[in-house]
Amino acid sequence: MADLINAFQMAQTQFRHVAEQLRLDPQVAEILLWPTREFKFQIPVRMDDGSIRVFFGYRVQHSDARGPAKGGIRFHPSETLDTVRALAMWMTWKTAVADIPLGGGKGGVAVDPASLSISEQEKLCRGYIDQIWRNIGPRQDVPAPDVGTNPRMMGWMVDEYSKLVGQYTPGAITGKPVGNGGSQGRKEATGYGVIYTIREAMRHLNIEPTRALASLQGFGNVAQYAALGFTEQLGGKVVCVSYWDRADRTAYTVYHPEGVDVRYLISITDVYGSIDKDRAREAGYMIEDGNAWIEKDVDVLIPAALEGQINAETVRCISDRVRLIAEGANGPTTPEADEVLKSRGIFVIPDFLCNAGGVTVSYFEGVQNDMNYYWTKEEVLQRLDIKITQAFNSVLQMAESEKVYMRDAAYMVAIGRVVEAMELRGWL
Ligand code: NAD
Repeated sequence: MADLINAFQMAQTQFRHVAEQLRLDPQVAEILLWPTREFKFQIPVRMDDGSIRVFFGYRVQHSDARGPAKGGIRFHPSETLDTVRALAMWMTWKTAVADIPLGGGKGGVAVDPASLSISEQEKLCRGYIDQIWRNIGPRQDVPAPDVGTNPRMMGWMVDEYSKLVGQYTPGAITGKPVGNGGSQGRKEATGYGVIYTIREAMRHLNIEPTRALASLQGFGNVAQYAALGFTEQLGGKVVCVSYWDRADRTAYTVYHPEGVDVRYLISITDVYGSIDKDRAREAGYMIEDGNAWIEKDVDVLIPAALEGQINAETVRCISDRVRLIAEGANGPTTPEADEVLKSRGIFVIPDFLCNAGGVTVSYFEGVQNDMNYYWTKEEVLQRLDIKITQAFNSVLQMAESEKVYMRDAAYMVAIGRVVEAMELRGWL
């Protein structure tokens, strides 16, 4: 519980640190230190056995200065108001750094979705919307999937919302299935976005992509498309990926010094991002300890699984060859490890810039819903590349002109844009 409360304290501490560097007016900082609005509500659900169970739901709108709030809904047993507040604040910075006209929000329900039947899940999703529909919508706050929720659930939620407002309103929620108002390219978006930032960073650092080696943590949605992009778009080699083995309840690294065949590995990976290690071994790969990914002699590390993986202990294992870390995951680096990376001169692409591809295509999904006209995958990915490249370059420019670390520069760009919107709207 204490750790979870710390998520919001951590988000506030990071913000205060940059607000000081930016010499932000303390009265303005006080506004952004707290969510604009927050909702907590009960969701009673009639279970399959006839009993009624009460779940608790949250929706937090941190800022809508730049546009409607935007952010996912998590279904997780240890969800609290403070985790949702922290995530909502981080969404404000992510949409601002990506320069999409949206703010930051987040939602959650304290529940283990795996403990519910499909019909109970549907009732919970509809019940969530029944409680919050007046305060969300395409012009107010646009939810999306996150940990424990999926496109199918978004389909139920948008149906419930449309019934309540009496109008088909697909833009009320993004991350819907393609065929029910979803966007092409959403599943590739985050991983490919990671690759666009790596491509720009390599250009800046004079790293030749076709000679570059990468090691990844994770092999789920983000890591699979990042690995594909690294090999097929940049022409580099991925020497290893790691994953959580659900059967053995431990993490493994799948390694080949000459580079792995990413498409083959995807073909032997289940929907949870768990690789069939017996088939990988038969194909000539080495199966190593789950921590081995971070020790490899590579140019690029891509943590794309969990938070806190590059920490005071593991940071010491990073090879001297590593010049670039691209944070596909949210919060993979602890503040202590950040100090070490800074002092070693390793170039870090911070999470809310590196993995902003997902929310950018979510924004494109809303745009397509508003137009009721849908783009091809190629069009979506081309627009994504333009947005992410611009975002990367504005952060790099800030880092160079202010002589600050990339993470601080990303915060400075984001906070600067939010404060500018507040000024332009006459709030300050
Ligand atoms: P996912 O569930 O699809 O995949 C997670 C992967 O991590 C799986 O391969 C799993 O086996 C692996 N994993 C879990 N524990 C591990 C461990 N201890 N060691 C090694 N591997 C481990 O999740 P995802 O959607 O790819 O998200 C990954 C990260 O990216 C998360 O931090 C998420 O918040 C962040 N993110 C995702 C998106 C998105 O659009 N999917 C957008 C922004 C940020």
